[in-house]
Amino acid sequence: MKIDVVGSMCTWVLDLSTSYIINDEFLFDAPQGSFKTLMNVYDLTKIKYIIVSHFHSDHFMDLHLVLEYIKNHSEIPKIKVIAPKGCRERLLTLFDLIEIGYLREEIDKKFEFIDAENNKIIKFDGYKIKCFKMTHLNLDSYGFLIEKDGVAVGFSGDTAMCNNVRKIISKSKAIFIDSSNVEPNNKHLSVKEVAALSDEFPSCKFYAVHLSPYSIKELKNTSLYHPKQGEVVIV
Ligand SMILES: [Zn+2]
Repeated sequence: MKIDVVGSMCTWVLDLSTSYIINDEFLFDAPQGSFKTLMNVYDLTKIKYIIVSHFHSDHFMDLHLVLEYIKNHSEIPKIKVIAPKGCRERLLTLFDLIEIGYLREEIDKKFEFIDAENNKIIKFDGYKIKCFKMTHLNLDSYGFLIEKDGVAVGFSGDTAMCNNVRKIISKSKAIFIDSSNVEPNNKHLSVKEVAALSDEFPSCKFYAVHLSPYSIKELKNTSLYHPKQGEVVIV
């Protein structure tokens, strides 16, 4: 599996927030400010599927620009959008808020929404995608296990420590994992927690992402690897 790291940081730094393009055809999260890079560095005409892990702005807020791009490229077929319930309605609200009502008539032509639910398995085009409800405040936030051709890669999305973190890792050859914090809380994993998980699951390769200005310093005290913006990871 090929993972283009569009961004690998959190909101509070210059570099882009965490987002990936998988096998050239999957966009995983569309953070605010990412669209300029998505459009100019990557070939969005190849995108067939989108995953939105949750609706925080650093995961969701440029999705309307992706829709607008697709509207302007009629050769791109309808895209499957796997997201927490209510994605369509949130986009419609956003269109009103930022006065782009002309996208209302495009949303059902270009996007087919598939609701993420805990333990739901979605299969299409040789992919098997399993959704895991994560612990991120009390939000409807998901991690995913994406499997194709016998290779399974985990994406934690935003999460604090919970059973589903271990479930994803135990099935993954590699995991892109939230490492935002220095101290644990109910919103994000800490670097120390991720380092301990890496010791617990030595057969899984760990990629520490969603880093903050503080956790990136903490990361230097560990053997965890941080993939940089623009890096290509092959699993
Ligand atoms: Zn979040």
